[in-house]
Amino acid sequence: MAQTDPIQSLPRIGPKRAELFARLGIETVGDLLHFYPRAYEDRTQLLPISALEVDKPACFVASVISTPQTHRIPKPGQRALEVTKLTVADHTGRLHLTFFNAAYSAGKLQRGETYCFYGAVTGDYLGYAMTNPLFEPPDGPGSVTRCIVPVYPLTAGLNNKAVMQAVAAAFERCTPPETLPEALREEYGLCDAATALREIHLPSSQEALEEARRRLIFEEFYIFSAALALVRAKRTVRSVAPYETGGMDAFYNALPFRLTNAQMRVIGQILDDFRSGAPMSRLVQGDVGSGKTMIAAAAAFCAAKNGKQTALMAPTEILAKQHFDRLAPLFARLGVRCTILTGSMTPQQKTVRRKEIADGQYDLVIGTHALLTETTVFQSLGLVIADEQHRFGVAQRAALLAKGEQPHLLIMSATPIPRTLALILYGDLEVSVVDELPPGRQTVDTFLVDERYRKRLNDFIRRQAEENHQTFIVCPSIEESETESLKSAEQWAQTLREYVFPKLRVALLHGKMKGAEKEAVMSAFAAHEYDILVSTTVIEVGVDVPNATLMVVENADRFGLSQLHQLRGRIGRGEAKSWCILVSDTKNEETRTRLKALCATNDGFRIAQEDLNLRGPGDFFGSRQHGLPAFRIGNLAQNMTVLEQAQEAARRTVAAGTLPEGLQSAVDALLQNGEFLN
Ligand code: ADP
Ligand code: MG
Repeated sequence: MAQTDPIQSLPRIGPKRAELFARLGIETVGDLLHFYPRAYEDRTQLLPISALEVDKPACFVASVISTPQTHRIPKPGQRALEVTKLTVADHTGRLHLTFFNAAYSAGKLQRGETYCFYGAVTGDYLGYAMTNPLFEPPDGPGSVTRCIVPVYPLTAGLNNKAVMQAVAAAFERCTPPETLPEALREEYGLCDAATALREIHLPSSQEALEEARRRLIFEEFYIFSAALALVRAKRTVRSVAPYETGGMDAFYNALPFRLTNAQMRVIGQILDDFRSGAPMSRLVQGDVGSGKTMIAAAAAFCAAKNGKQTALMAPTEILAKQHFDRLAPLFARLGVRCTILTGSMTPQQKTVRRKEIADGQYDLVIGTHALLTETTVFQSLGLVIADEQHRFGVAQRAALLAKGEQPHLLIMSATPIPRTLALILYGDLEVSVVDELPPGRQTVDTFLVDERYRKRLNDFIRRQAEENHQTFIVCPSIEESETESLKSAEQWAQTLREYVFPKLRVALLHGKMKGAEKEAVMSAFAAHEYDILVSTTVIEVGVDVPNATLMVVENADRFGLSQLHQLRGRIGRGEAKSWCILVSDTKNEETRTRLKALCATNDGFRIAQEDLNLRGPGDFFGSRQHGLPAFRIGNLAQNMTVLEQAQEAARRTVAAGTLPEGLQSAVDALLQNGEFLN
């Protein structure tokens, strides 16, 4: 029997069953063999009867010490209920077993014989008992006891046993072919395909199961990495005209400060890329406040000097506006023409602006996602910069890249991404790290408090205002929610205005406001027309108000660590001492530990790693919009080591042009519908 044979060619699978299997995505025998259990029930441990615990299913070996007795309990209008009772015992105790409607199978139990049972005891004042345990002979390999039982994802009408039987039947009739070359398996210590598949369905031990998983995960990642490597190999063939990178001093001299050594080093790496003649793909990772914007500006300046346009994308309008406000005056002095294009502009404004961009009237275009729409055409796009990239999907970046010939790509991130993941998300990515903060930057003292501190907190906010400083208050939601007692930005702003700080000027900012409205509030706050800004996380990234010295986060337990760290990065940007107060009433110990970790360190990289460990790479891989394929068994966050090995192996194979034949079709399939490869 071949893997490609329809599932119906297995015994006991007719058209109806086949229909059910199809619902699980199983059409062929091969599909079935690659339909992995979602969990396992480990029944390998044998317990003495005395050690059985209530409601915890377990295996035990015991002898039948009474003759099984079956009674029929008539039920009006229904089939009679058959109750079979017997008693079993081992050297530690005895147990009463009851079987309902199982007279036939229970009848096989012989007084004086020993069996292995699997079941859970239930306890009441009369002592322990067990209903409908599974049982089989005590010697030889067990199929329901002393084994690890797979638990499959199911669909209505198809139970676990049916899938197990089908899988067993498939294994009797066909041997899955090997897909990985012997040499590769040897190098990475991987078991063969047939063993791996057998063990994944019917593990002989936990160790064997682990080995099987590793092998299958490796294969999955290997195919994926090979597809990536193939695309990448094609991509890098193209070259771009090298940039002239002299004359940067004009830029450095126009700045009001000296760039840090880290900033200079990263700019140097970017200029090297520009000179190389190959399109740059570089990720710049640097903690909040490390001055990534100036690095982006330096790159844009160089591109402009070479007659190339730069698109700088920010995740929010506020941030785009802020970049524009900060960079436009600087670039004006340098003769670099700079403009902004955002979603909140009127259609006419946009049309005009787009025409100007297409005509090459601007060297630097700053914007949000609006920059990505098809109608924005560049005259000669040379550089694409994505700020705080994790808000941009792969597809969005691809759309922008498609607008230029082979634009250089620069991605700025305050959230460090492990290199293996970065490779998957961004392909051929070089990584730069800005590991130094501009001088004079002070650490923000962070505290975790609960509602009992509310009065003191309010006094503290008042004191900031008296000292002519400003406060950010971040709430997790916009509107009052009925189900939860979360502070809504809207409601809380009103409460503060009316009752708590009637003498202070309180502004409100949230993501549902119109772009122009947001901008007005933000610039008014920056101009110190307000003392307090109550907002949602729209202020999370980048917003710069050096006069703000206090960040209060309500319901802090609602936020991820990296997000909180980003929020905290909004303050401590001026000369004055700054504080971050996390307000949370949560009793959850784990959450409190998490929040306290944030109070203990200001190192964004450590925090992000912690976040990644705690929550998995949800930020990067949580939504399907990233376009990555759904892995059957591999988990990008948990199987990082295997991923690294598979990547290394795949890259070598592709470079040598020796992709194993058995995998070619799988790779082709991925290449055909892999939007992630754009
Ligand atoms: P981030 O890396 O978080 O994007 P920014 O680029 O927004 O950081 O920079 C944070 C602040 O530091 C800005 O106000 C910026 O003008 C300032 N800054 C950047 N580089 C330097 C430097 N070398 N010396 C002093 N201040 C700097
Ligand atoms: Mg920034």
